[in-house]
Amino acid sequence: MIHILLLLILAWFAASVGLLVLLNWRTLLAAWREPVLACPVLIVESDDWGPGPSEDAAALQELARVLESLRDDGGRSAVMTLGVVSAVPDGQAILDGGCTRYVRRTLADPAFTPVREAMQAGRERAVFAPQWHGLEHFWPDSLLACLDERADPAQRQALRDWLRADCPRSEDLPAALQSRWVDAARLPSSPVLASAVALAVREEAAVLRYVFGAVPEVAVPNTFVWDDVVERAWATCGVSCVVTPGCRYEGRDAMGGLASPTRRIRNGDRGQGDVCYAVRDVYFEPLRGHRAEDVWRALEERTAQGRATLLETHRSNFVGPLEVRDAVIAELERALRGSLTAHHDLRFMATAELAQILRDAESPFRERDLRLRVVAWLRRIAAEAGPARILKITGLGSVIRRAGNFLGGVNFRRSHYQADC
Ligand SMILES: [Zn+2]
Repeated sequence: MIHILLLLILAWFAASVGLLVLLNWRTLLAAWREPVLACPVLIVESDDWGPGPSEDAAALQELARVLESLRDDGGRSAVMTLGVVSAVPDGQAILDGGCTRYVRRTLADPAFTPVREAMQAGRERAVFAPQWHGLEHFWPDSLLACLDERADPAQRQALRDWLRADCPRSEDLPAALQSRWVDAARLPSSPVLASAVALAVREEAAVLRYVFGAVPEVAVPNTFVWDDVVERAWATCGVSCVVTPGCRYEGRDAMGGLASPTRRIRNGDRGQGDVCYAVRDVYFEPLRGHRAEDVWRALEERTAQGRATLLETHRSNFVGPLEVRDAVIAELERALRGSLTAHHDLRFMATAELAQILRDAESPFRERDLRLRVVAWLRRIAAEAGPARILKITGLGSVIRRAGNFLGGVNFRRSHYQADC
């Protein structure tokens, strides 16, 4: 009787594993191929910094002060990437011209010297790492089309009001227009001409080179909408890493929302021009209620999966009234300090450095111990959305989780490579 029961359990287990492999072999293989990191890595990714009032410069200086006060075991200060939007529209000039011609003010404009200098100072102290985030946070021709007299009157008026601001904030634009690399004047959006994309990327490179002395290696697509054409243009101008949410969106749907993703992306995957992808999938927007505890939970989870934790945040969190700004920065500091306390082997770095690690199988930051790689793989599978249903129905998910915890917890030993991190 016991033998029959044992045989039934074994048959169930074999059938469950067979089904899992049959239906999800691509996912299982991709999760195995994705590089496994040998120590916790935490990066703060902040977007939308660019031309703005002197209050923005003060916020950057305060952020730099706090980041510099936080050090990992290797003595490295915390790093915040700056997704730089290099220009804003010259609203008055556009309105004066009847909204038929686009005019911009770039970061090189003397009016933005305080912001520029705050960025440069933080970069020199290795607490800021500039990244591409568009010459504008919209496609200028789409903006002009929405300002045309034949366009929707309510939206046209709202955009005219937006242009009258001394320094228009891209965050205040309609969501669809914030996608730079598509024409969202009419929905669903349509692709932008490759020649226009190439020219726009070259123009952006010129401003970034002027401001920072060199073009950054990392690009962050605005609203995560981009395509192969954009990627090729970036790669031609020196981009070697693209930050993604773990998938790619290529357009806006009829309602202005993000169209369905066109592909799944994992850390270390390669794109056009051999750009290396990094996955950023943890939100930290204190103004929307995210707290340090959320960061700690995410760090725990991603570290267990051998992945870096990239926090996504935006300028809008840091440029409000002074007491709000200080509270947000204090929450960021609490998140980073608590992470250091919980993980003594935590490493701060810029996303460009993470990309190098993802490219280099020999990096000391990469896990080589087979058992620990299997543990990370099991934990990745347990967290995958694709096989989640099969794992639940067959009960295999629970087995995988227990196996991962047993191999990684009960018999846990530090990787001998970890000491090099
Ligand atoms: Zn943005």
